[in-house]
Amino acid sequence: MNAPLKYGLALHGGAGKYKDKPQHDQIAHLRETCAHGQAMLKKGAAALDVCEELAARLEDAGLYVAGRGTGPNSTGEYELDAAIMDGPSRKIGSVCALKGFQNPVHVARAVLEHTPHVMLAGRGAENFASIRGCTRIENPLEYYLVQGVSRLPEELDTGTIGVVARDQNGHLAAATSTGGLLGKMQGRVGDSPLPGAGCWADERVAVSCTGQGEYFIKSVTAADLSARLRYTAQNLGEAATAAIADMETQGGYGGLIAIGTSGIPVFPFNSEGMRRAWIDEHGEVQVAV
Ligand code: ASP
Repeated sequence: MNAPLKYGLALHGGAGKYKDKPQHDQIAHLRETCAHGQAMLKKGAAALDVCEELAARLEDAGLYVAGRGTGPNSTGEYELDAAIMDGPSRKIGSVCALKGFQNPVHVARAVLEHTPHVMLAGRGAENFASIRGCTRIENPLEYYLVQGVSRLPEELDTGTIGVVARDQNGHLAAATSTGGLLGKMQGRVGDSPLPGAGCWADERVAVSCTGQGEYFIKSVTAADLSARLRYTAQNLGEAATAAIADMETQGGYGGLIAIGTSGIPVFPFNSEGMRRAWIDEHGEVQVAV
């Protein structure tokens, strides 16, 4: 029998309809990113650092609705949301409707490390990111790969990215980053940057959600999962499935990745698919859509 792994890791590249859309590039990229995270964790990296680093790689890939792959809102602007949370300290940094910076997750981490606050929005987030020296996007129309939206919002893709990790000290962390829904209204903020909705980490569980954010907010899905572990006898798999089922009663679709103290992740979803990668109990990287 294998010795239990000392660490754990899962990534998602969004929930959505992928049956008729080839996902080879995303699968290869999720595999490579997960393997990179595994190497970091093996060397003793902190879960929080792994979540930040992998989320930035997913943002930069242009393969998901986050970072470079973000689409414009209804006015043609690129407004991004992200959050990162440290389980043991429950410190969280979050940015909403951020424009003009390459890696929202780095700005969120800077909010966590260098402010007394949890969340910065819009112009304040941008001024703060400038002061911290975060990398700017000089020309959004050149940088972002999705230009112009002609479809209706309800037909549009979801495809947020997220990472949850457990490090060798048993610490948990989570990060979620998104361009939100393509064609969303100006100023619209989804669940991804909201603690307890689309991102959460504490001493029991780390969670990152993806799907129709409005429904995850109404169900506080990530907090619901943690509360189930705290107040009921449900195990991680049961609690995660029940949290998604509750979100579904509101009419939404999507999924989540979650990791607990065992380091073995779970990924319930009610959408057609959810792009994901994880380290299994044998230490192998697995990928599925
Ligand atoms: N949950 C994200 C949002 O509503 C979208 C997604 O997961 O793709 O902003």
